[in-house]
Amino acid sequence: MDRVYEIAVVGGGIAGYTAALTAKNLGLDYLWIAPEAFGEKTRAAEYVRNFPAFSGNGAAFSSALEAQRVREGVALTRARADGVFAQGGGYLITAGKEMFSARTVVLATGVDLKGDIKGEREFFGRGVSYCAVCDGALYRNRTVAAVLFSPRYKEEAEYLASLAETVHCFCLYKEPHFKAKNIVVHMGAPEEISGGARVEQIVKNNKTLSVSGVFFLKDSTPARALCGGLETDGAHIVTKKDGSTNLAGLFAAGDVTGAPYQYAKAAGEGLVAAYSARRYLSAAKNG
Ligand SMILES: Cc1cc2nc3c(=O)[nH]c(=O)nc-3n(C[C@H](O)[C@H](O)[C@H](O)COP(=O)(O)OP(=O)(O)OC[C@H]3O[C@@H](n4cnc5c(N)ncnc54)[C@H](O)[C@@H]3O)c2cc1C
Repeated sequence: MDRVYEIAVVGGGIAGYTAALTAKNLGLDYLWIAPEAFGEKTRAAEYVRNFPAFSGNGAAFSSALEAQRVREGVALTRARADGVFAQGGGYLITAGKEMFSARTVVLATGVDLKGDIKGEREFFGRGVSYCAVCDGALYRNRTVAAVLFSPRYKEEAEYLASLAETVHCFCLYKEPHFKAKNIVVHMGAPEEISGGARVEQIVKNNKTLSVSGVFFLKDSTPARALCGGLETDGAHIVTKKDGSTNLAGLFAAGDVTGAPYQYAKAAGEGLVAAYSARRYLSAAKNG
């Protein structure tokens, strides 16, 4: 924790990778943090025909990127950030029990194309959470819901079940299996979250279940949940041409800044954000 990186890049897609690669090439002391390099969206492409000098499917694209990452020695710290907080002229990034400090941050966390569920935005911070490890303890012995976008979040749901009385798991993937006996499985997304001052119910197929909280366990943590005070237009972070946001020293790149959702745009913005972070650091140094 004593180490203060010059730049922390959050997000493992092509925007985050390009920002980390550029930071390394610029000689910055960098941290690149993501659960994995070149996630689902890079692998998922059926055929990539719009990225310069590459033709092939997503798996081949990911392999080519990974080979380059290894060749160039771009180090990845495998973790999922759950908070980015302004601290002492820089930022503190929390990832479960781990904490990292950096003078500048590039957020490249992508977007969730499946979109929000009715009530998700409205109740954020009032019963809606994106991190079971961070907020699970608040729901000890209570009934909660978890919306799992992939089987990768099974362990987080099991963790919730170790604290809560009952966990209603809404699974957006086939054949879910859980060990905990207090997990009730529902297939598909819920339709709505409702309540008063806080979350009180979740609705699926016109059936209403009483819950105290709802956890959205998905790959792209919404920016508003990650970093308080960040200006968004709802789904995307508002940036200037240089990738800067309304928060000094915090930049954004890739799908998280808006359409077009394409690899080339994401890579370009990752590069620009890293240069902008360096400019910011130089300006701060020269007073
Ligand atoms: C099926 C499919 C096919 C596509 N085909 C093409 C194509 O042919 N050509 C094209 O140009 N584009 C294509 N796209 C779009 C392309 O995938 C995106 O534009 C591109 O992946 C955006 O890159 P990104 O780095 O901004 O975000 P992403 O690729 O979404 O990467 C974001 C990463 O950040 C990580 N992350 C999220 N939250 C956190 C957190 N809190 N802490 C740490 N890490 C976090 C995620 O795990 C993820 O890996 C396709 C998309 C899909 C879904």
